Amino acid sequence: MRNRMIAGNWKMNKTYTEGVILAQGLAKELADGSGDVDVVVCPPAVDLKGVAEVIEQEAAPFALGAQNVYWEEKGAFTGETAPDMLTNVGVRYCIIGHSERRGYFGETDEDVNRKAKALMAHSLIPISCCGEPLEVREAGTHVDFVVDQIKKDTAGLTIEDPSAYVVAYEPIWAIGTGKTATADDAQEVCAAIRATLTEVFGATTADGIRILYGGSAKPENVAGFLDQRDVDGALVGGASLKADSFAAMVRAAM
Ligand code: PEP
Repeated sequence: MRNRMIAGNWKMNKTYTEGVILAQGLAKELADGSGDVDVVVCPPAVDLKGVAEVIEQEAAPFALGAQNVYWEEKGAFTGETAPDMLTNVGVRYCIIGHSERRGYFGETDEDVNRKAKALMAHSLIPISCCGEPLEVREAGTHVDFVVDQIKKDTAGLTIEDPSAYVVAYEPIWAIGTGKTATADDAQEVCAAIRATLTEVFGATTADGIRILYGGSAKPENVAGFLDQRDVDGALVGGASLKADSFAAMVRAAM
């Protein structure tokens, strides 16, 4: 049994003050709880502590996620954030391998793999992103492309609790473009991801790992994705920046 997950990636949006206001708004929207749905918000690093305080003060039914991490414990890595620093401010999840980090900052599958290991060593839950660019989709090799990413991203990982590792399938051509994959497109790749996870970790573990869809998901279309057998939730960018639209997506998942 996999609990659904709705995770919001605020990206480089919301100052500290705006982030606190958004988190307060979300706490109000979700005052009646989120049922069995695991809700996660991933603000910019400087907002994490403020959002953590809102979660605590309001007993809000969502958890805190970061957008990036470095795999070393500490030291001369200017600008980076260690896993320990995340746990210390109440972070429980961390996005890794987002296509924007891969595309703009050169994050490789090997980096994603090291980050996953470092996070899990600190009991942080990776939300590990994968997904193909438009030219790969148009060439029809998207399934092979994503399967290869999953194999590299999970190499040598040990997963004892399947709820402690999350995959997000985000076709790059559908991120922030308003172009969504169809529910069938998402299911095709998510099923291939689960089959690959089965090869790597065995069926029991793979059956318990959440696979999210991301890419222009919004209140109007999220139900179609959630209906798919291998889609267990959504990673949401733009529509997570307003409390009402994000809460509507949580309610659609309940
Ligand atoms: C994302 O970047 O993770 C994302 C899914 O963005 P959007 O929902 O805006 O397409």
